[in-house]
Amino acid sequence: MKCTNCNAGTYERKKIPYVFLGEKIGLFDALVCVSCHETIFESGVSDQIEAEVKKRGLWGLRARTKVAKVGNALDVRIPKSLAEFLSLKQGQEVILEPIDKNKLQVVMS
Ligand SMILES: [Zn+2]
Repeated sequence: MKCTNCNAGTYERKKIPYVFLGEKIGLFDALVCVSCHETIFESGVSDQIEAEVKKRGLWGLRARTKVAKVGNALDVRIPKSLAEFLSLKQGQEVILEPIDKNKLQVVMS
């Protein structure tokens, strides 16, 4: 089978470490292109990865939230599951760093 990414290499079966949100989820069977290293997980393996990610409570941490007004400032609510994942506590100081006009990074200090 030719690589669908580079169209030059062929795939080789390998165990690949899978990392999600900075946590090592495990080693999984994957097809890796010998030329460009494009990695494909077959559907059964994708299901295994998803199950493991869900088991660790890392699934669905990306959240939609609304901006509220508090005095002259704006307030962004962080859902409980995300706060727990980040070990973020009330009163903790964080650094707000704009990445561009559409992205804001919150850095725990
Ligand atoms: Zn390739």
